[in-house]
Amino acid sequence: MNIILMGLPGAGKGTQASEIIKKYPIPHISTGDMFRAAIKNGTPLGKEAKSFMDKGELVPDEVTIGIVKERLAEEDAKKGFLLDGFPRTVEQAAALNQMLEETGRKIEAVINIEVQEEELMNRLTGRRICETCGTTYHLVFNPPKVEGICDLDGGKLYQREDDNPETVANRLSVNIKQTQPLLDFYREQGVLRNIDGSREIQEVTGDVESILTNL
Ligand code: AMP
Repeated sequence: MNIILMGLPGAGKGTQASEIIKKYPIPHISTGDMFRAAIKNGTPLGKEAKSFMDKGELVPDEVTIGIVKERLAEEDAKKGFLLDGFPRTVEQAAALNQMLEETGRKIEAVINIEVQEEELMNRLTGRRICETCGTTYHLVFNPPKVEGICDLDGGKLYQREDDNPETVANRLSVNIKQTQPLLDFYREQGVLRNIDGSREIQEVTGDVESILTNL
């Protein structure tokens, strides 16, 4: 099962990804998470990625393609994977196809979660994340029981540095420009599946599941 989750920042990719990996034994590979981990660990990759992420820009393709190639070569990704946040450019998509072809694999579905830009702005600036388990909350739409504290493990909630209004606006416009050619690319390959992400989380999850069970 080789799946890509697509959607603008805040569309709910992370939420749907965690539902998918509860049911299917495939790794959830998020390039954003990989870059954030590298920054936290102070690696050279982290230092390079941070300068782009802080401005809301994409990390250069050669860097991003390199880390994905390494990750997909790991044992746990051989039976399938769920990509989240990658590819973000046609160059990345073409490189992904090529690296999969080399190992006799291909993308089976690209699930695109669609949400209007204005709603994404509201969602992202109100987003809060548990620093220990990574669970996401929203100040208005999905608040924790106790302000600033994770319901699941009592961890402290933080706001991602790139979730401030200015950076969010830039991230959205960069992403919108980049996404269209990518959607065209996968539509032409017959693997694009659009779903309406503005509904309740469970309804969106229902659509994702029906796509996966019918693969
Ligand atoms: P995300 O968590 O997916 O919203 O990613 C956060 C940031 O990481 C993005 O704004 C980019 O700066 C960087 N990033 C994540 N994935 C990619 C990618 N596939 N290509 C380039 N940059 C990326």
